[in-house]
Amino acid sequence: MAKYRICLIEGDGIGHEVIPATRRVLDAAGFDAEYVIAEAGYEYFLDHGTSVPQATYDAVENTDATLFGAATSPSGIKPAGFTGAIRHLRQKYGLYANVRPTRTRPVPGAYENVDLVIVRENTQGLYVEQERRYGDTAIADTVITKDASERIGKFAADLAMKRDKRLTVVHKANVLPVTQGLFLNTILDHTKTVEGLNTSTMIVDNAAMQLVRNPRQFDVLVMTNMFGDILSDLAAGLVGGLGIAASGNVGDKFGIFESVHGSAPDIAGQGISNPTASILAAVLMLNHIGATELATKIDNAVNTVLTEGPRTRDLGGTAGTEEFTQAVIAQLK
Ligand code: ATP
Repeated sequence: MAKYRICLIEGDGIGHEVIPATRRVLDAAGFDAEYVIAEAGYEYFLDHGTSVPQATYDAVENTDATLFGAATSPSGIKPAGFTGAIRHLRQKYGLYANVRPTRTRPVPGAYENVDLVIVRENTQGLYVEQERRYGDTAIADTVITKDASERIGKFAADLAMKRDKRLTVVHKANVLPVTQGLFLNTILDHTKTVEGLNTSTMIVDNAAMQLVRNPRQFDVLVMTNMFGDILSDLAAGLVGGLGIAASGNVGDKFGIFESVHGSAPDIAGQGISNPTASILAAVLMLNHIGATELATKIDNAVNTVLTEGPRTRDLGGTAGTEEFTQAVIAQLK
C-alpha cells in the first residue's frame, strides 16, 4: 500500500495540463502515493449543473491532501446555481488560511532576496458573496467575526514564529473601524501574548506601496480575504508572475493546494502553460503532509531548471509544458 493518498483535481483550462505534469514530477521524485482522481470546476458545472460532485467531497475527505489545478471564475452575472468550486471547498472544509509564499526564484526581472508569506483569511470578508441590488444601488456585505480573526491571527503568528518572528497585520481600520477594527484588534490581542514575536501593523494601501518599494522588509503578513487576494498577486508579480506562484488552503483537518493562477482560457489547450506554480503547490503540499525531504528535492530541481532553462514563454523562454516538465524530471533522476 502506498504511504500517502492524494486527491488530484484538474479543474478547468490549463488545470488539464499542469496537474498531469505535476503528477509526473511527483512520480519521478519517488513520491509514494496513491492518487484519487476527482472532478470540480466550471466545466463540470456546465455539464452536470454542479461544480463539485459528491464523489469529490468523498475524495477530499478520504485522502491526506488535495492538489487542485485551476478553476474558471466566469465574469459577469453568474449562471444560476453556480458557485466557484474552490471557494466552495474552502468554505465547506473550513480551510480558513490561504497561505501564499513569495520567494525569489531565478527568473528574469525578479526582485532579489524576497522571502515573505501572505496569510489571507479565506472564509469571510467581502468574499462571503452576499450581494444584492436595489434599482441603481448595489450592496455587498463584508463579514468579520472575532473567532475567525483569532484563528487566522494564531495561524499567522505560529507561522511567523517558525520563520523570522516578524508579523505585519495589514488592515484598513482607519476607514472601516467596525469590521477591519475587529480583525486588527483581535489579532493584536493574540500577538501580545506571543513571546518573541515582533508584530507591526500597516494600512493596506501603504502595504501595497511598501511591497513594491521594499518587499524585503516583510516576513509574514496577515490580512482579510480580498486584501490578501490582491496583494498576493502583486507579490507574485515581484518574483516572476503567476506562472510560478503557489498557494495552500489549510484548515484544522484538510489542506487543498493550488496554483495562484486561474484556468488561463487564453492559452488553455495549447501546451504552453507553465506548470511551475502547480509543481510548487505540490511542494507546499509535501511540506504540509511531512514529506519535507521530497519537497526540498523537487524545489531544488525546479530552481535548477529555472536557472539553466529551458524556460516557458511567460518567463521569456520558448519551452512548452512538456519540455519544461521533462527538464524537471531529468533533474530528479
Ligand atoms: P480565470 O477566469 O480562470 O481566472 P484569467 O485569465 O482571468 O482566468 P488567469 O488564469 O490567472 O486569469 O490568467 C491571467 C494571465 O496569466 C493570462 O494571460 C494567462 O494566460 C497567464 N497565465 C496564468 N497562468 C499561467 C501559466 N501557468 N503559464 C503561463 N501563463 C499563465
